[in-house]
Amino acid sequence: MFNPDKRLIPAQPPKAGFAAGPSKLDAIRSVTLSLAYLPLARPISDAKVLTGRQKPLTQVAFLFCEITTEAGHSGLGFSYSKRAGGPGLYAHACEIADNLIGEDPNDNARLWDKLCWAGASVGRSGIATQAIAAMDICLWDLKAKRAGLPLSKLLGAHRDSVACYNTSGGFLSSSVEEIRDAIDHSLASGIGGIKIKVGQPDPMVDIRRLDAITTHLDGRVPLMVDANQQWDRTTALRFGRLVEPLNLEWIEEPLDAYDAEGHAALARELATPIATGEMLASAEEHMALIRADAVDFIQPDAPRVGGITPFMRICTQAEAKRMRLAPHFAMEIHVHLAAAYAHEPWVEHFDWLAPLFNEELEIKDGRMIVPGRPGLGCSLTGQARDWTVETKSFGG
Ligand SMILES: [Mg+2]
Repeated sequence: MFNPDKRLIPAQPPKAGFAAGPSKLDAIRSVTLSLAYLPLARPISDAKVLTGRQKPLTQVAFLFCEITTEAGHSGLGFSYSKRAGGPGLYAHACEIADNLIGEDPNDNARLWDKLCWAGASVGRSGIATQAIAAMDICLWDLKAKRAGLPLSKLLGAHRDSVACYNTSGGFLSSSVEEIRDAIDHSLASGIGGIKIKVGQPDPMVDIRRLDAITTHLDGRVPLMVDANQQWDRTTALRFGRLVEPLNLEWIEEPLDAYDAEGHAALARELATPIATGEMLASAEEHMALIRADAVDFIQPDAPRVGGITPFMRICTQAEAKRMRLAPHFAMEIHVHLAAAYAHEPWVEHFDWLAPLFNEELEIKDGRMIVPGRPGLGCSLTGQARDWTVETKSFGG
């Protein structure tokens, strides 16, 4: 019990951990941030558009980060935003980037914390963490390049290729005929799974499209569906029961992204695996899913959760729960992170980002080959530079 006669011992805050000590191996010389817009060939719609919540997607904003060090090493990282958010990511990153100048680039975890504290007033999720993500991913790319290793090998790989599926042909803005053609094209190019969008205002429209597509696919590769959070719990359960005989690989985002309890109930009720997590914007938000046993497949997105440092923390927890991993989007980063995950994962193939990078990812026999080049194995094209609308350098 508290005794007012006793003198209180003042709390001693930890002194270590806010600056690199004598083990400092290198120093960050410059940080360059760029905001670029990748135009899409045609407007894209998922269920969020058909329910009136969003407009069709016409472009993707990218925050690129390039870092150089005194010892002559360099890295490239990126974060992104669909629809609103690109200028916000860039502005927040510009406000905090000079905290990296002079720091040891090897101290990834400490630097993540330092950047987070620099912007702590605006929270530890969303734009704040996604601005940090570009810098964090850049520092991991730099570390792997310094080691002369692909990022997957630096992290500790389980495999040198990852099963990959394709989404980009299965949007609700595509007709059944267009989806059939896209499936044929995907399978011919070596893709190992197909995902199509569902979640229309009338679920029976989804069922009729799904029936036509499963007939066409005829079990050649696994099939996934993605409702983009547009069902309530009852609709999700009814739909899930209706499609149980199809042996889908998973049902993705059947419910609101933050409804961990609802996903957990659905996962218990259905034999079809449940997947979600792409919209969550921090490691802590993923912990809510993991604690609730809400998913069979967890779907973190490294740029969205704040980079590779928080992504690996999510993986540690998810591995312990024997969850499988299917990261969202950004295959250029996620092929490495999935290769380092314990339980057989999937990686999502999107060809949208191809114009941004000089290197192509190889697909063979249903799997994406992890690049053997050091780091992420990506460099920016002249086209990516041409699409850059703002750039700012720090240090140097
Ligand atoms: Mg999705």
